[in-house]
Amino acid sequence: MKITIIAGARPNFIKIAPIIKAIEKNKTEGKNSSYRLVHTGQHYDKNLSDTFFEELNIPKPDCNLDVKSGSQAVQTAAIMVAFEQELIHNPCDLVLVVGDVNSTMACAIVAKKMNIKVAHVEAGIRSGDMTMPEEINRIVTDSITDYFFTTSKTASQNLKMYGANPANIHFVGNVMIDTLYQNLNRISAPSFWNKYQLEQNNYVVLTLHRPSNVDEAESLIDLLKGIDEMVEDKKIIFPIHPRTKGILGEYELNLKNTLFVEPQGYLNFMFLIKNSFAVITDSGGISEETTVLKIPCFTMRNNTERPETQLIGTNTLVGTSIEKLRKVFAYFLKNGQKESGIPELWDGKASERIVEILLKK
Ligand code: UDP
Repeated sequence: MKITIIAGARPNFIKIAPIIKAIEKNKTEGKNSSYRLVHTGQHYDKNLSDTFFEELNIPKPDCNLDVKSGSQAVQTAAIMVAFEQELIHNPCDLVLVVGDVNSTMACAIVAKKMNIKVAHVEAGIRSGDMTMPEEINRIVTDSITDYFFTTSKTASQNLKMYGANPANIHFVGNVMIDTLYQNLNRISAPSFWNKYQLEQNNYVVLTLHRPSNVDEAESLIDLLKGIDEMVEDKKIIFPIHPRTKGILGEYELNLKNTLFVEPQGYLNFMFLIKNSFAVITDSGGISEETTVLKIPCFTMRNNTERPETQLIGTNTLVGTSIEKLRKVFAYFLKNGQKESGIPELWDGKASERIVEILLKK
């Protein structure tokens, strides 16, 4: 089977790494499969792209569509136009997409219209929030997917509710957690660890990049100031996403505890998370990683497409106001972390399951 694998943005790179490893393993065992890796170029900054290829030993892409930034429509259209050419010149049996970014949806549409089968890894998750571009990408992608690979039974259930054929829905676990387990013994302290006198539990990690939190400079600044005051004697490590950096622009922010750093590579970032006192974020992927690492996570969103991180894991859904965060954080300081577990099949073997199923198709 000839598989074309799509990756466009930071969380995609983390998800494809173990899938490629599992395909390579099957190849060495003589099973009939080959793959071609297409980077759409949606993320192109070195520290959102190249670093992840290097650190996670992902092979150099066979092709880069080089689309770069643009509005939702411009970027989606550019990926579709370029990917159609790629498929014409390099036909395949199956296109595998991961996650919920524009590259996921755009490449799924192109493949399906060329009568090529589509596999979606991380299918079926739903926030119910149609103001999120990711939710639209999820729904469109899943409406034309042939083989669904899910991270939870809830996601599988969502797909059934949408009318997907149950025979094509495979609950396999979480590829992001495969990467986490495969790299835990390689994580390392970032270069500023000693300079900022960081120690286990003496800092909070903060990441914010969703439009609902960062698109309005004034409310973003109020949020940052509020968080800075809230953590008392802890430091805050804030790897600042290029989108957030662009919005903060020239504002002078005099924050006592917050240390602004560049977006981190995977190995440094996971070291920071694993040793942190707590995490405040609006990322979906990070709430999964903190669940497995048992680190308290406070999600600055009104909804989550990953309910298991809250029901089973360490995640607390806070909403987007600093007042609510203050209350929730004060409760945590007083009462400590709630009891938590690890969701079913988040065991580091999801990619092997996916490849085994695909090679039987
Ligand atoms: N991440 C990273 N360095 C950072 C911030 C995030 O390596 O400075 C990783 C993180 O471990 C997680 C992924 O990037 O696995 C999540 O990316 P992002 O928050 O951009 O995407 P989302 O999960 O919101 O889709």
